[in-house]
Amino acid sequence: MEKFKFDTVILGGGPAGFSAGIYAARGAVSTAIVDISMLGGQPSNYLELENYPAMKRIGGYDLMEKFEEHADMFGVQKFPMQEIESVDLLSNPKVIKTKEAEFEAKTVIIATGASPMKLGVKGEQEFVGRGVSYCAVCDGSFYQDKVVAVVGGGNSAVEEAMYLTKFASKVYLIHRRNELRADKIIQQRAFNNEKMEFVWDSVVEEINGTDTVENVVLKNVKTGEFSNLKIDGIFPYIGMNPNVENINGQIEQDSRGFIITDETMKTSVDGVYAIGDVRNTPLRQVITAASDGAIGAVYAVKYIETLKEVTV
Ligand code: NAP
Repeated sequence: MEKFKFDTVILGGGPAGFSAGIYAARGAVSTAIVDISMLGGQPSNYLELENYPAMKRIGGYDLMEKFEEHADMFGVQKFPMQEIESVDLLSNPKVIKTKEAEFEAKTVIIATGASPMKLGVKGEQEFVGRGVSYCAVCDGSFYQDKVVAVVGGGNSAVEEAMYLTKFASKVYLIHRRNELRADKIIQQRAFNNEKMEFVWDSVVEEINGTDTVENVVLKNVKTGEFSNLKIDGIFPYIGMNPNVENINGQIEQDSRGFIITDETMKTSVDGVYAIGDVRNTPLRQVITAASDGAIGAVYAVKYIETLKEVTV
């Protein structure tokens, strides 16, 4: 097994992680990004972004390629596809063990992001890959001329529903209230799209089918009435849970597991910072993740400098 020593190990190679990498490496500390999958993070799956300043409109994958090239320019070392076995944040140095390697780090910057929340209803797990999908960009083309439903009322649900209208003959958007949470400009586009139909005040109670999804049972939360909706596929987009499996219990987290930081992105453990979607933040955007990365890395570099002072 290979062993590495870095001043900073960044867990997660999305916008927060790459931004931290750029700032840390420019702060002249040795920097690595370790990721359990391919680099790029969540935005790699976004069809398009039009709110990342100066980019006007850019594909998610293309934007993340630019982040990566920028980190490469400063010599950030990249370790994608690492199966993490353990993360010890409380030792000094901190130790990250993966199936492939062991990393020692003076500081760890956690940028592991968040993953889709599940509906938690009967049939959801059973039909994953057979009509239940959490990625419209990955699976949308399987639904050419079919009828699909998206669940949720946030930016993700509405944008992904709009994307699905490129393939599907009809896209229901099932939302538990009668008002969307998504940005007004995104809402307006969805309301103007003839393939979209909104199912308000409703939650999914069951997902049913034989080989693949055939219908869902809905409950109207205002009237208590149940109904059946015939669909070929369902895409839940109801928010995210933090990716903290290897971190739980070592660090202060909120009731949903998001990591609590101060304004320098420092966590409850010295030398450990959390940035982007994994932390308790009021806004989860590429721009805020990148901003967190800059702040966290600058303070991680300052922390490394204080360690040098102690040893002198
Ligand atoms: P979100 O904004 O938290 O929205 C989650 C939606 O799911 C809400 O409408 C919520 O309903 C609904 N919901 C939550 N739990 C539910 C349940 N158990 N059953 C049914 N519905 C449920 O999550 P998101 O859309 O994934 O977005 C996450 C973050 O990424 C946000 O900050 C968002 O702005 C950002 N984002 C931005 C862009 C962009 O700017 N282009 C694109 C994608 C995501 P309520 O409204 O009733 O709470």
